Amino acid sequence: MEQQKKILCVGLVCLDIINVVNKYPEEDTDSRLASRLTVTADVCRSVGSGEEMLQTHAQCCRCSERPAPSWAPCQLVLWPNFQKYCIDVSLLSEHPQCFLPASMVISNISTGSRTILHMNRNLPDVTAEDFSKVDLHQFKWIHWEGRNAEEQVKMIQQVEQYNSMLPQQQKITISVEIEKTRKPLYQLFPHGDVVFVSKDVARDFGFESAEAALKGLYSRVKQGAVLICAWAEKGADALGPDGVIIHSDAFPPESLVDTLGAGDTFNAAVIYTLSKGGSLQDALTFGCRVAGRKCGFHGYDSIS
Ligand code: ADP
Repeated sequence: MEQQKKILCVGLVCLDIINVVNKYPEEDTDSRLASRLTVTADVCRSVGSGEEMLQTHAQCCRCSERPAPSWAPCQLVLWPNFQKYCIDVSLLSEHPQCFLPASMVISNISTGSRTILHMNRNLPDVTAEDFSKVDLHQFKWIHWEGRNAEEQVKMIQQVEQYNSMLPQQQKITISVEIEKTRKPLYQLFPHGDVVFVSKDVARDFGFESAEAALKGLYSRVKQGAVLICAWAEKGADALGPDGVIIHSDAFPPESLVDTLGAGDTFNAAVIYTLSKGGSLQDALTFGCRVAGRKCGFHGYDSIS
């Protein structure tokens, strides 16, 4: 049945080590942390949280590469987290010789800013060959976090091929996120039914608002697609084939604590709503509501 089909996320699993400070440190000084926490930085986790939040039984699943499962951070932090959020990680492929990607984050509670130092030493991205082993029947939606775009286009073509044999209501919805300002990622624009473009990318194209970005970039998406652009405290906008710009204001928390992962949380909540048949306006509003709530605390555990 359609309801039992899952959402698949294709991307990267990364460990975030979040150093919480009261004041951003000066270079070459010695400061104390207010606190430290480790979380699994992973778009799929946010989708999982979105699902959990509504206490449904919708399942989430991911396809990505993983380092040796015996490696301590995997055992101690990542895999228990996946279990906690009911994320099916059966599609992860193992790379025993590789290191887990990790980010060292400085989270400043006085401003809510997050400064990220990311390292991925040698864990490869998911390839089209890995993806070809996935049984697509179990999915209603597949989301790609823009990374190795050329391979990702090949994966999307596999889904388009699969979709071409199915009636409209059984087709898998394809979404892509273009977050980083890397030119090769821009080839993903015409490949999503739903395309998330970040404000960084919008600015890279010279746009200074979500609305301007949507109008300026819409010609790059395929016919019938929806283009969505979130803009931090200004909320988010979306544009579909009818040419009408939809907007939601942000929902700022009482106090702004941590914006790390706000974008992923927004994407997850939007995908969740649309995958349940909700309207674009409902999806944007819910996305901003959940992402705004996330900004009021560290990590993700208090979203629900
Ligand atoms: P990121 O910095 O993770 O890329 P975005 O700027 O894309 O996040 O914001 C995603 C969504 O998160 C926004 O649409 C908004 O709803 C929410 N958000 C982000 N920053 C804030 C903020 N300072 N206040 C309220 N909501 C915010």
